[in-house]
Amino acid sequence: MSEDCIFCKIARGEIPSKKVYEDEDVFVFHDINPVAPVHFMLIPKIHLPSLLEAEECHAAVLGKMLVLAPKLAKEQGLEKGFRTVINSGKGGGQEVFHLHIHIIGGGNIPPMVKRT
Ligand code: 5GP
Ligand code: ZN
Repeated sequence: MSEDCIFCKIARGEIPSKKVYEDEDVFVFHDINPVAPVHFMLIPKIHLPSLLEAEECHAAVLGKMLVLAPKLAKEQGLEKGFRTVINSGKGGGQEVFHLHIHIIGGGNIPPMVKRT
């Protein structure tokens, strides 16, 4: 847990969010500024800043999040599929430094990288 981390506060219920799912290891909530009709994020309850800091000891919770993602995506209406995004570190465009998996779908999902 990190005292001043916004996603730790959301996981603790100290900052309100639109919760999708919660268990002892994982918290899932809708993005406040969605980029598609469905846009939610899975976070581990432990404060792991990004995938850059991931180690062997995080394998179980990261695996759990990946297996949970399609189940929750289908429950949110994304039976046809979804985009999974993990921005890691400043070099990856990460803005909130508590690891999160974006699940994005519904509507028109453009190619991920615009080729010029
Ligand atoms: P990043 O760019 O770090 O991968 O994504 C951070 C995401 O967190 C952004 O999509 C942003 O809209 C979302 N976000 C930032 N602050 C809050 C908040 O207080 N509540 C919720 N639900 N989402 C947030
Ligand atoms: Zn945190």
